[in-house]
Amino acid sequence: MSVPAIKSSEEAIKIEEKYGAHNYHPLPAVLSKGEGVFMWDVEGKKYYDFLAAYSAVNQGHCHPKIVDAMIDQAKTLSLTSRAFYNDILGKYEKFATEYFGFDKLLPMNTGAEAVETAIKICRKWAYERKGIPETEAQIIVAENNFHGRTTTIISFSNDEGARKNFGPYTPGFIKIPYDDTEALQKVLEENKNVAGFLVEPIQGEAGVYVPTEGYLRKAKELCKKHNVLFIADEIQSGIARTGKLLAVDHEDVKPDMITLGKALSGGVYPVSAVLANDEVMNVIQPGQHGSTFGGNPVAGAVAIAALEVIRDEKLAENSMKMGEIFRKELNKYIENSSVVHKVRGKGLMNAILINDSEDSSTAWDICMALKENGLLAKPTHGNIIRFTPPLVITEEQIMDCVSIITKTLDQFEGKM
Ligand SMILES: *Cc1c(COP(=O)(O)O)cnc(C)c1O
Repeated sequence: MSVPAIKSSEEAIKIEEKYGAHNYHPLPAVLSKGEGVFMWDVEGKKYYDFLAAYSAVNQGHCHPKIVDAMIDQAKTLSLTSRAFYNDILGKYEKFATEYFGFDKLLPMNTGAEAVETAIKICRKWAYERKGIPETEAQIIVAENNFHGRTTTIISFSNDEGARKNFGPYTPGFIKIPYDDTEALQKVLEENKNVAGFLVEPIQGEAGVYVPTEGYLRKAKELCKKHNVLFIADEIQSGIARTGKLLAVDHEDVKPDMITLGKALSGGVYPVSAVLANDEVMNVIQPGQHGSTFGGNPVAGAVAIAALEVIRDEKLAENSMKMGEIFRKELNKYIENSSVVHKVRGKGLMNAILINDSEDSSTAWDICMALKENGLLAKPTHGNIIRFTPPLVITEEQIMDCVSIITKTLDQFEGKM
């Protein structure tokens, strides 16, 4: 029994393959260091990170301010559990609720836990405030959603891989097409037991699917009219990713509840949260929900620092600006491309659509070539590549990346 020394990427991949569960299919890059928009592999090759850990690393890798906050707090007090108070949690809650404009925050650790929490709060609100008969509450969700991996959440996924043989599934969810307010209106009018509508303001895992302008505003209006909670899952789209603090801000929509995770910690520590106003959050009383690590002092200190970095470094503004440059440049390229037919997104949450079928390996092959050329990105589906670099990226770096991406795509032109 000993801890092995890792001397090569090949070796690292081999031992993971042998000793780790095969629940992921990573691109074969073995990373050992990160700083800002860059990561380095075991052999010392440098890459632009164009995934940013699914938008958890919006503030850039190993941001010194966030890392220092974590180290200082870890050396002082790391965990008390919520059996006692700690001197960070309240500070963090006041800061974060003012930052996002809600009355209260419920702290959890991972994104899926935040979504589970929102579902529980929504159901409880439905029974205790709206008067829906107990166990009858329904939550409307969108097709092709991604909200995490727990048994309840995969119950309303339509990704076969995520669902198959994990049943029996949790009931109480009604699935409607995304970006379809008529479908939403129809369910709301026909079903008196709807408690909430849970939606991603931009669908991330579905391939950065941006809804029609006005969708979120109309959906919120419909929810309000039918006394249904509008719940925005901003775990991926929030915290400056799309060029605004929250993606719902593009349409000036105020959700009844939001879920946050990922960049809430700048990627250094798992931190998630649900935010809502008192009339919703107050349905939760002692003993009804919790988590041993949720709201721990390290998480609080890290989240405060992560949110300060977003604000102080004006990362929403930079995301907006850099995203516009990125899409403009790629649009120029695709005018004459047979490989890519569309670039879509908001701020620095973007994707390109490849001219091939969803079950093809083209997007994967392009990502492998991008890796060779010094840029790491990951396909979502066989024909979509997501581009979500850290938001600290500069104009010069964006132009360098556009050049890497277009040169790589050139290698595939005429071959398909
Ligand atoms: C990543 C993600 C989640 C799940 O977060 P985990 O931390 O992986 O559990 C939920 N919702 C959305 C929109 C996400 O992108």
